[in-house]
Amino acid sequence: PEMNHALMSNYAPLPVEFVRGEGAWLTDSKGQRYLDALSGIAVCSLGHAHPAVLAAISDQARRLVHTSNLYRIPLQEQLAQRLTGLAGMERTFFANSGAEANEAAIKLARLFARQKNIREPVIVVMRQGFHGRTLAALSATGNAKAQQGFEPLVAGFRHIPYNDLAALHALADQEPDIVALMVEPIQGEGGIVVPRAGYLKALRSFCDQHDCLLIVDEVQTGLCRTGRWFAFQHEAIRPDILTLAKALGNGVPIGACLARGRAAALFQPGSHGSTFGGNPLAARVALAVLDVLEQEALAERARALGRRLMRGLAKTFQGLSAVRTIRGRGLMIGIELTENCPALVERALQARLLINVTAGNVIRLLPPLIISDQEADEIVSRLGLVVQDYLAESKPAL
Ligand code: PLP
Repeated sequence: PEMNHALMSNYAPLPVEFVRGEGAWLTDSKGQRYLDALSGIAVCSLGHAHPAVLAAISDQARRLVHTSNLYRIPLQEQLAQRLTGLAGMERTFFANSGAEANEAAIKLARLFARQKNIREPVIVVMRQGFHGRTLAALSATGNAKAQQGFEPLVAGFRHIPYNDLAALHALADQEPDIVALMVEPIQGEGGIVVPRAGYLKALRSFCDQHDCLLIVDEVQTGLCRTGRWFAFQHEAIRPDILTLAKALGNGVPIGACLARGRAAALFQPGSHGSTFGGNPLAARVALAVLDVLEQEALAERARALGRRLMRGLAKTFQGLSAVRTIRGRGLMIGIELTENCPALVERALQARLLINVTAGNVIRLLPPLIISDQEADEIVSRLGLVVQDYLAESKPAL
């Protein structure tokens, strides 16, 4: 298929054009229907064309889309109230994406360092972590390939292995100027890496002992996907700073950086800003999204569906030596193969199933939280056939 050369070449889109969606189903320009097990990468948690989202967009579009943060925005104030209440945080800054939410978090950590009179602060981040593509978020990201060519990166980030407390303590022994730790509660782009139980709790006590901020990036895990409102709640801790985006607007761009305690009071008038951030349209839609997540108890539903999917996948892939592990939490599931499998995505597309492969060899499932049990079972059966066919054909002749 021909690419449009008016676009830059940073994406390599699959040869399909979707023209409409409903629930967990997308229809392409030829009228074919696809089962969506990816939700636009953890964005459309309420599926496509959800009536409550549709109503919020159209009603708000009729009233008022944008005014700027030069004026009070009551919908933004309401949304901040709801989010801080749900997350146990105190104050919110609104952005338009995950990367921007993380930029705000990083800037808060820098201001925190100033307050402590630390001139060259260090933010500890994780290998294989992913925080976005803007320069500071990219510098925090633990992926050399994504960083390649964009040097010099923003200074002040130190990468350590994920899920490795010994590495953290070793770094702290030689580095007195750590001001923050930035971490995903489950690594998403890094391959659906679930840390051992107690890891987040240990990071929380490290930050308490060393007087540094715990920044939890829940851009992918947040808002009920893992079976709780926020993944940090699985370990009953609270971060100092929490970042959100993706599912918050179900496709309407909005990101948020929430803070509590000292971190909540660092921004002053003029410290930071965004023209679009938290505008009436985005805030209205996010409020509608939170209503649906709450009213339909979608955290509990994600937990139940996750268990169902894991059971089905375990049964389907039982005895397949090419499947190394199946892991995840709620509706954030990874199936790690022993070999890289980039071609699987296109195979699945041909089987009318939308999935993704991350970290080279991990099939990633992030289905909408509103799927039925039957749709969950259909994801398993379509994926089972695709993987079995793929493995049968790619197996080297012995
Ligand atoms: N943080 C995490 C954990 C993510 O998974 C992502 C995107 O995949 C981002 C940040 C960046 O978000 P965005 O693409 O909205 O800038």
